[in-house]
Amino acid sequence: MRTPIIVGNWKLNKTSREAVAFVKSLWSLVADVTDIEIVVAPTFTGLSVVAQALASGNIRLAAQDVFWENSGAFTGEVSPGMLKDVGCDYVIIGHSERRQYFGETDENVNRKVKAAHAHSLKPIICTGESLEEREAGKTGAVVKDQVLNGIAGLSADQIASTVIAYEPVWAIGTGHNATPDQAQEVHALIRLLVSEIYSTDVAAQVRIQYGGSVKPDNTAELIAQPDVDGALVGTASWEAESFAQIVKAVCNVFFIN
Ligand code: PEP
Repeated sequence: MRTPIIVGNWKLNKTSREAVAFVKSLWSLVADVTDIEIVVAPTFTGLSVVAQALASGNIRLAAQDVFWENSGAFTGEVSPGMLKDVGCDYVIIGHSERRQYFGETDENVNRKVKAAHAHSLKPIICTGESLEEREAGKTGAVVKDQVLNGIAGLSADQIASTVIAYEPVWAIGTGHNATPDQAQEVHALIRLLVSEIYSTDVAAQVRIQYGGSVKPDNTAELIAQPDVDGALVGTASWEAESFAQIVKAVCNVFFIN
């Protein structure tokens, strides 16, 4: 069985002080959760203090982006070694906001994914179609390109520890989540793509998260889909209470039903 993974993407929110207060209150709400990976992704400036606040708990740390070189004359960038050094286990790569506002390309996503693995950081590769692409019937083709380009050149071990997030752009921050059937259809496609390149055994190990307006009240139906292994949560992860409710909803589906 794949361990469910729930990631809170804080985007451009929370000062260091707010971040520490948040994780302390989140931890008090989810301290008893053991069989789910709970991950928070603060801004770069919050990583170090959050890592210290999390030191003995069951919550892991992710960064929201990374550069592919490990050092050098690259003003403004943060390297995989630096993220590992502050205590990150995961890094989000290719989020649609980075693709949309900062010119992130599939080629650069792939460089970052390889650099992350080279430093024992697990990448969370974001994929997903725009509304226009969905309406034009291009969802499968768009996601296929993003997945194949993003994972190009990875070994079987590397892909098995890579997380792939399906986040339809039209669902991010809009309050309109994909239906469970829409999510399952794309997640199954992603797993099929991985199995065609590697094997069904390898594909069975890859965790595929859904993201896009996940809330406490829609988590259960999304996570109950056979190929949905977790959630990448934006807005609803910025309040400890609602993020904890999402975690609990996942626990209920996986470990009680
Ligand atoms: C995201 O930004 O990854 C996201 C899924 O945001 P939201 O939950 O707000 O739709």
